[in-house]
Amino acid sequence: MYLIMLGAQGTGKGTVAGILSKETGWPQISTGDIFRKNISENTELGKKANEYISKGNLVPDEITVPMVADRLNWEDAKNGAILDGFPRTVEQAEALEKILAEKGKKVDLVINLVTPREETITRILNRRVCSNPDCKAIYNLTMHPPKVEGICDKCGSKLVQRDDDKDEDAIKQRLAIYDEKTSPLINFYKEKGVLLTEEVSEKINRLGKDVAEDVLSKIK
Ligand code: ADP
Ligand code: ZN
Repeated sequence: MYLIMLGAQGTGKGTVAGILSKETGWPQISTGDIFRKNISENTELGKKANEYISKGNLVPDEITVPMVADRLNWEDAKNGAILDGFPRTVEQAEALEKILAEKGKKVDLVINLVTPREETITRILNRRVCSNPDCKAIYNLTMHPPKVEGICDKCGSKLVQRDDDKDEDAIKQRLAIYDEKTSPLINFYKEKGVLLTEEVSEKINRLGKDVAEDVLSKIK
């Protein structure tokens, strides 16, 4: 199956996608992670993408769409994938339909994560990620802290804060872009009958792992 994680920054897309990927064997394809890997390796793609990412803007489709199309051609994605961070605009969603249609596939399920805005901002500020690109575990200093401060429980690597998570202006910019460009995808996929909306909030004690469990029970 081809799944899409939809939802604003800080709603837990990466956490849910990571669990789903582990349980289903379908790769988690995170455009943000692919960009960050290219930035850390200083590739041409990374240099170009960073001009946009550092300001909290979207990377243009000319760069993003072919990158995802290429990743979906990998052997590991031939039976399914969990897209995390793509599509983010109606144009990207339309491009994805074409990419999948050429393979005789379609988007099977879109998981729309909804969290109160004040909670998402705190979560982004408290987010720490594993610096090991093969691990990429995600922590939260208050909700899900590592056992040893600054160290990944899973692989022992150093935890870091993403550059775009340090800057409150960049966070607000990313959320504004989500509202303007990405949130229309909720209706886009609702009309196609593939949308599953899931609430994630500390207030109702419902976190990413609870959502992942629910999704797994629905797709198995
Ligand atoms: P966040 O969702 O917190 O912004 P991501 O890790 O998903 O973080 O993405 C980091 C940055 O990479 C985004 O702010 C954006 O600049 C860029 N990016 C990721 N996915 C896309 C996409 N589908 N289209 C354009 N830019 C993207
Ligand atoms: Zn790790």
